[in-house]
Amino acid sequence: MDEKLSFFKDGLRLDGRRPDELRPIKIEVGVLERADGSCYIEMGDNKVIAAVYGPREVHPRHLQEVTRAIVRYRYNMASFSVEERKRPGPDRRSYEVSKVSREALASVILTSYFPRSVVDIFVEVLQADAGTRTAGINAASVALADAGIPMKGLISSCAAGKVDGEIVLDPMKAEDNFGEADVPIAMTPGGEITLLQMDGRLSRDEFRRALELAKVGCQQIYEVQRRVLVDRYSSIAAPESCEAAEAEEEA
Ligand code: UDP
Repeated sequence: MDEKLSFFKDGLRLDGRRPDELRPIKIEVGVLERADGSCYIEMGDNKVIAAVYGPREVHPRHLQEVTRAIVRYRYNMASFSVEERKRPGPDRRSYEVSKVSREALASVILTSYFPRSVVDIFVEVLQADAGTRTAGINAASVALADAGIPMKGLISSCAAGKVDGEIVLDPMKAEDNFGEADVPIAMTPGGEITLLQMDGRLSRDEFRRALELAKVGCQQIYEVQRRVLVDRYSSIAAPESCEAAEAEEEA
């Protein structure tokens, strides 16, 4: 069978997307009562939840830093989130994803405001379809904002890949598994890259195109993250500010 036919039909991908199109995104903020900040995200068939605690006291205490807060990130993939049941608990992959995701976010958190404390980020993948690390970073970024953690800006994350010789945005599982390359990135709204990984092989030109495409994807995700936060906090703030305005008028 012609391989080209298997991933593209009339220029569109298996799920009907254009090569430069993201999967549909849905974000909910403040979904967990007992976390300081939380977020649920769907990016295509990925379903991921993030919970943020802190800044709070560091345990064990020897991890404390005198001049700044430390940031911890735990990425966990539920056993039922993947087709072939995943063995519960941490493994090499989850350590790697946790490390790079932590670094992607830590650079924008104003840790010097909270010496001797910790910001803990927990990311749980409930359903996976490739791109879970990027979905986790997007959710964690919104959850950090929801927790009121001071940051230089939100972090947005998505991947670009190569499938049947074409550079595509936000590969889904079939494209990720059988594609030629996968380039997940994370960046600030100003375009500063805080995560850059690559699986597979790309020429210099393909890499440049993949990076540009992923950056455009991140900008689109940033708009959704920003809108969701503005909606959430303007709806919470609105009744109070109305009351305040009414009271002022009456006085
Ligand atoms: N995956 C899986 N079992 C595993 C790890 C991964 O089925 O133990 C699938 C899952 O759908 C995941 C995809 O492979 O989203 C791609 O995994 P990768 O390591 O590239 O990370 P991701 O793209 O999710 O950040």
